[in-house]
Amino acid sequence: MTTLNDIQKQLAEQLLLSILKKEPTVNYSELAERVSPPINPRNVGHNIGQVSLLCHELGLPLLSAKVINKNTGSIGEGFFPLYKMMGIPTEGKSEKELFHEELKAIRTCDEWYKLEDYLGLHVGMPRPSGAPASLLNAQRPIAYAKSVDVLNACFGERILGKKYGAWQRGALEFPRDGVVYTVWFPKLSVDGEAASGSGWVNRISPNGMTIEETGGSPYTGYTGERLVFAKKGNEPYKFCGVFAQDKKRSIPSRHFYEKVADIADFSGDVPAIQYFSDEADQDRQLLDLMNDDAVSSKEITPHHRGIALPVPEPLQSGNRIVYPRNRQTAENALAFAHYRCEIDPTHPFFIRRNADVPYMEPHHLVPLSMQRQFDVSLDIEENIVSLCSTCHNHIHYGKGAKEMIKTLYEQRRKALESVGIRVTLDELLSFYA
Ligand SMILES: [Zn+2]
Ligand SMILES: [Zn+2]
Repeated sequence: MTTLNDIQKQLAEQLLLSILKKEPTVNYSELAERVSPPINPRNVGHNIGQVSLLCHELGLPLLSAKVINKNTGSIGEGFFPLYKMMGIPTEGKSEKELFHEELKAIRTCDEWYKLEDYLGLHVGMPRPSGAPASLLNAQRPIAYAKSVDVLNACFGERILGKKYGAWQRGALEFPRDGVVYTVWFPKLSVDGEAASGSGWVNRISPNGMTIEETGGSPYTGYTGERLVFAKKGNEPYKFCGVFAQDKKRSIPSRHFYEKVADIADFSGDVPAIQYFSDEADQDRQLLDLMNDDAVSSKEITPHHRGIALPVPEPLQSGNRIVYPRNRQTAENALAFAHYRCEIDPTHPFFIRRNADVPYMEPHHLVPLSMQRQFDVSLDIEENIVSLCSTCHNHIHYGKGAKEMIKTLYEQRRKALESVGIRVTLDELLSFYA
């Protein structure tokens, strides 16, 4: 899915409002004025193009067709190239015909609430009664006043065909296609401060990845995956991810849940959960690539960048969300470390079969699986350390990895900051926990 930045999100919101107001079109300068703070009309074009990309991915008409040039009354020149880029067949129609068709599609479409939900906006686009939220998105959560609102909005009449008024409980289990899912409504406290009330106390770790449940009467139920809609203090309920119980750490009176996905789609017949990728597994794929082909040593620039890179588009791989690892960047990082282990340069090595350099393995110090918590790229030389095979396996699978992480953190803290990666040692350690 295309990710929108704040300006693009605001433009999408204004275009949805324009549909509600039944404005036939809106011009570039008007639209530029409606976002806050106002932007240069010249910057509207490519940003509404991104909005249209997202519309297309959500199966909606291209919203940017609503935006016209004030003087000529015609559509911007970036519009038709979008058709080509998205591979929409034009069936020999003229640009004018396509433009009018798109405007009509925008007027008659009754699924704009899908864009509203996806972006976590509160525009009030009409929705069919009981229509489920198209996507549960923890990065752009929609707020719900009561747990019953969550059930009605997200699962509607699909769950057991009952009214949900009676279901105002802490958790609800429902089977779907042979799998039992739990919708859970914990009241969460952050940073160990206990929530008031009796019974179970639920704490979420500062990085939002772990929920710890303690203090109630012991039970071993609800072991399936949980769709967590949490309430923090007096805030409304918001989706905060899919969590799975960590069975190794949990005991009957103390349960740990780890976040396994940020995005889930329960609107279709088959639930679709986009699970996070496994860090070590992704490392292995990059290594395979580097080991199979010759190292592209000619292109190597063995120096740090010193400037932040934008977050790359995540890829969907099977039912997992994966942030791409750039091979050249990894090779640059190894060269920068002079192909020595950064835990201890005297660690033994052997020579790579496919290049005349010591065999070392690139490791992302701040794991790429944490990318969604950062607004700059983690796939950058400053964040990649060179480790010997033993140390690399040790840091992923071994006891005492904490000391290694500490050592590497001290060495890299300044370099990480220089490319906008701000992380404390405690946070970093929690990413490995
Ligand atoms: Zn690694
Ligand atoms: Zn080593």
